[in-house]
Parts: sequence; structure tokens; C-alpha cells
Amino acid sequence: MAQPLNDFSRLCVHTQTTKPWDIDQCISEYSKAGIHSISIWRHLLENKDLKAVKAKLEQNNMEVISLVRGGFFPNISKEKREQALQDNITALYEAQAIRAPLLVLVCGADPNQSLEKNREQITTAINALLPLAEQTGVKMAIEPLHPMYAGDKSAVTTLEEANTLAEIINSPWVGVAVDVYHLWWDQHLEQQIKRCGKNNHLFAFHVCDWLVPTRDMLTDRGLMGEGCIELKKIRSWVENAGFLGKIEVEVFSERLWNTDQKMYLEQIKKAYLSAT
Ligand code: ZN
Repeated sequence: MAQPLNDFSRLCVHTQTTKPWDIDQCISEYSKAGIHSISIWRHLLENKDLKAVKAKLEQNNMEVISLVRGGFFPNISKEKREQALQDNITALYEAQAIRAPLLVLVCGADPNQSLEKNREQITTAINALLPLAEQTGVKMAIEPLHPMYAGDKSAVTTLEEANTLAEIINSPWVGVAVDVYHLWWDQHLEQQIKRCGKNNHLFAFHVCDWLVPTRDMLTDRGLMGEGCIELKKIRSWVENAGFLGKIEVEVFSERLWNTDQKMYLEQIKKAYLSAT
């Protein structure tokens, strides 16, 4: 089992976890709560002066862990694929501007073509982004998603597949994001986490919990400890594989978004210490 977490030095919160807050509120409220790592969702940066955002992050002693999210590469239309690539180029520049060292990739899938074709287009697109990743100094993390999203959100659904993809791409700029929500059910998870660590591809670790029943595929995640994921066990695997980076709380929950977000942040801190 993993060593208990005793402080918040490794705690990072995704802005989407506190969806009702804008970027300024996320930065100042996390900082006030003693949380100094943040993963920023891109829509919060729309029409924002990124220099001002960077300054606010610095004033509040906030470290950006990742920009979320790039990807959505495959499409049956060549024009749409080109648009997706452009959008990822923009995302890499945005990450550079706010000093985010990592862009998380939700790889995408188009239900109008085969899974195989989707995967092929994902590989092509990531390869095309490598020179800019290096130029901007921003790494990319392939995030395998739960198979329930294979039709439209990610043709990459297991850690084994993400590991293989990262190995094929074989670049220091491309690794994997391990998210317990998507991967907890996999009987090969421990072994695949080991493989990921051995390759130096374990770039990020996302936590939340799986509720039973789950009432919505997208917005009914649980806070750590509310569901059935063996979080401490999975954290021990991740740490044994050499990952000692931030533990990113990424909860999408209509139920929790409807509560007082400052109190919710305190609940997150408690759940982080007791259940993660
Ligand atoms: Zn995630």
C-alpha cells in the first residue's frame, strides 16, 4: 500500500472540477486553500490575455501541471482533421504561454470510420505535432479513456494501447496520462503501469471515483472515497513505477458543481488525505 498523504504538496486540482468558477476564481481560491498546483481547461482561457493569466498564476504561487485538453484528431473529413491539427498547434502555444509543461490529449474518435482508421489518424497527428512540442517545450500525454467513450471521444481505451502508441511514437515529448476513472477495471493495470514507468512515459496521474450506479457517462464522477476504485492500491502501483509527480483531482459532477464550491474544495482536501 502507498504511504499516507500527509499534506497538500502533491495535490493538483483540475479547473473543471470546480466548473462554476472562472480562471481567476480557480487560481485565487485554490491558492487561498493551500493548493498550489492547477491543471487548466482550455475553455477558461478563451478571450483571455494569457500574459495576465500567467502573471496571476505567479502572484498566487501556482504551478501549472497541465493544459487540458488537446486531441480529438480523427475525422473522416480531411478538412476537419486539418482543423483539429491547427487547434492542437494553438493549444501547444497556449500551454507555452501559461508555462504548462504538458498538454493532455483526449485522442478522439469518429464513429463514421473504423477504430483502426481512427487509431491510424491519431498516430499520424501526434507525429505531426512532435516538432512543435519540442520547440515550445510542451510535452503531450495520451490519455486512454474508458471504452464507453470509444465511439466518439477516444479510440485509445486501454493503458496497454496507450503504452504501445507511445512506444511506436518513441519521443521524449510523448507519454501517457493514467486516469483511474478510465482504467481502474483493467486486470492488466498494474503490469501496464509498470511498463509505462519503465519507458519514462508516465507523465500524469488523475484521480476521482467510480459511482455505482453511474447516472451520467460524463458528469457523474465521484469524489475520492465515494465509489469503488481502489485508489490507494493504484497510487502505490503508480509510485512504484517511479511517478512522484502531482496527484490531479479531476471530478466532473453535476451534483458537486451544485454545491458551495469553497466548501467543496475543503471536501476535496479531506478526500485527498483520507481516500487517495
Ligand atoms: Zn483525466
